[in-house]
Amino acid sequence: MRCQPLTDNTVYIWTKNKQQCLLCTDTADTEHPLCSACEAELPWLGGHCSICALPLPAEGLTCGECQRRPPPFSRVEAAWRYAFPLDSLITGFKHQAHWPMGRLLAGLLSHHLQHAFAEGLPPPDLLLPVPLGRKRLRSRGFNQAEMLATWLSASLQLPQQRDWLLRQQEGAHQQQLDAAARRRNLRQAFALATGAEVQGRHIALIDDVLTTGATAAALARLLLGAGAARVDVYCLARTPKPGD
Ligand SMILES: [Zn+2]
Ligand SMILES: [Zn+2]
Repeated sequence: MRCQPLTDNTVYIWTKNKQQCLLCTDTADTEHPLCSACEAELPWLGGHCSICALPLPAEGLTCGECQRRPPPFSRVEAAWRYAFPLDSLITGFKHQAHWPMGRLLAGLLSHHLQHAFAEGLPPPDLLLPVPLGRKRLRSRGFNQAEMLATWLSASLQLPQQRDWLLRQQEGAHQQQLDAAARRRNLRQAFALATGAEVQGRHIALIDDVLTTGATAAALARLLLGAGAARVDVYCLARTPKPGD
């Protein structure tokens, strides 16, 4: 009987604590399964809106949209712009259930957040993953936001609650609706579970990518309406403005 893995190489890599880079398959020379060249090439978020994290040409600005209609959440924290090659890692995690990619991204986001806390961002009392509709959960088999929340909860030592936020309807035709109808639709899409205690608490919503921010805004309104003290959004990536 053979108790060792068939390839010596795997054992060698494991004992030396060397991992392969998930982007280029070179040996990873960082604490994550990512080589430093690929890490440097990730589209790290540079200048961005101080509220919604929209990529902007300089630091410390607030985007026009947030000035016109301040969103209900206080702050979006994202590590990256949603761009190549980060998009392939997120797609691998989300659509091909490639867990090591998700874990890698959660680890790097956790570093980003620890840095932000050290710089004065108030840490939340609680993490709440953005819920997935039942139909989508059934076809994908897992909620990527819930997995991110679990990894972040462990590395940041912050509690999470997976089932306090409920998605009641799918919103399948969201894209065909105008902005006002979309907001109305989203307002009715979410509910708070019985027994969810958000009163007076600072909550961070967890999601993979923030695009329009409409979902996060709807959830933030729901939580603030139920007495939450503050709502932030932590996500892997922020999409640039269309056309940028
Ligand atoms: Zn690499
Ligand atoms: Zn903004």
